[in-house]
Amino acid sequence: MSIEFALALWFVLTFLLALGNTAGCHRLLTHRSYEAVAPVRYALTLLSAAHAGSPVLWVGVHRVHHAFADTDLDPHSTIKGFWYAHCGWLCSGARNLVPCVLFALSGFGLQFTYLVNDIRRLLGHLKPAWRAMCRDLMKERLMVVLDTPLVIPALFGLQLWAAWAIGQWWGVLWLWSLHVVQNNISWVINSACHHPAFGTRVHDAGSRACNVAWLAWLTHGDSYHGHHHLHPVSARHALEGGIDMSWLFICTLHRLGWATDVKLPAGMAMPAWAGRVKARG
Ligand SMILES: [Zn+2]
Ligand SMILES: [Zn+2]
Repeated sequence: MSIEFALALWFVLTFLLALGNTAGCHRLLTHRSYEAVAPVRYALTLLSAAHAGSPVLWVGVHRVHHAFADTDLDPHSTIKGFWYAHCGWLCSGARNLVPCVLFALSGFGLQFTYLVNDIRRLLGHLKPAWRAMCRDLMKERLMVVLDTPLVIPALFGLQLWAAWAIGQWWGVLWLWSLHVVQNNISWVINSACHHPAFGTRVHDAGSRACNVAWLAWLTHGDSYHGHHHLHPVSARHALEGGIDMSWLFICTLHRLGWATDVKLPAGMAMPAWAGRVKARG
């Protein structure tokens, strides 16, 4: 494989994997901001699971976050510090800079925590409490399979095997960099987008959630997080304009007839090119 092709593939996958999280796990599965045809729903789910783990766990944690944002019950509250919210909550509740930065740069550290937690589940030391928040998703076979112990580690093992088979250590390095970027793009929503130092707070949002416009390109529009907490069900997050790639993607799906029931705040409508939909609030 040429370096040019490896680089091009890296950028394409970076774009698609992040979309799996934002348009898929977040807007489609967690908030049910729109409905998508089965192939799109499954593709987005698998793209997200490839780096962010079980969608049922992801959705369960995120629904708790919305219910208790910026309180002691928030799984990744910035009240416990920026680094705790970024990734410390995923690695033994660390709040200090050094362990959190090391974990953030580890790339595969998140996958290691999934393996440990799955072993704890198999030994009966960890109950899948997150499933109680996702009774809707638990009706789907794919979601149940992806939330079965050792399935996510197997998915990651497959990635490692392919990376090694194609490029040996260079392949592993390529995969590591992909995971480092994906992890931090996802985590920055919980840290920077809930920290007043980084963006514009939306006062009605009832939390510290803020809009961080300069992160919109990286996060496919999810960094308009203040707007999101204000209107959690809205398929569009950049409600006052700005880069929202996930929204453009959902509009495109709708135009193609692959997405329906797109939710928007009262008074808003889809652009004419995507086919107008009455706002449902
Ligand atoms: Zn939030
Ligand atoms: Zn959300």
